[in-house]
Amino acid sequence: MSENKMIPCVDCGKEHPRKELNRKLRCPDCRIKILRDNMQQLMDHEGPHYEKWKQGVKAAAEKL
Ligand SMILES: [Zn+2]
Repeated sequence: MSENKMIPCVDCGKEHPRKELNRKLRCPDCRIKILRDNMQQLMDHEGPHYEKWKQGVKAAAEKL
């Protein structure tokens, strides 16, 4: 029963069945959008996602 409960996505606010949302309550559409944003920023070498990615790479490199 609770599997079919409609829950609003945290990003777009559109209601989706609980099973379609991930643990962060984000719908598949928004997940794809964020993935695209991430990739675009990595290619452009700018933006908050790129900065975060850069920090992650730096941190990983320091562990080597
Ligand atoms: Zn959404």
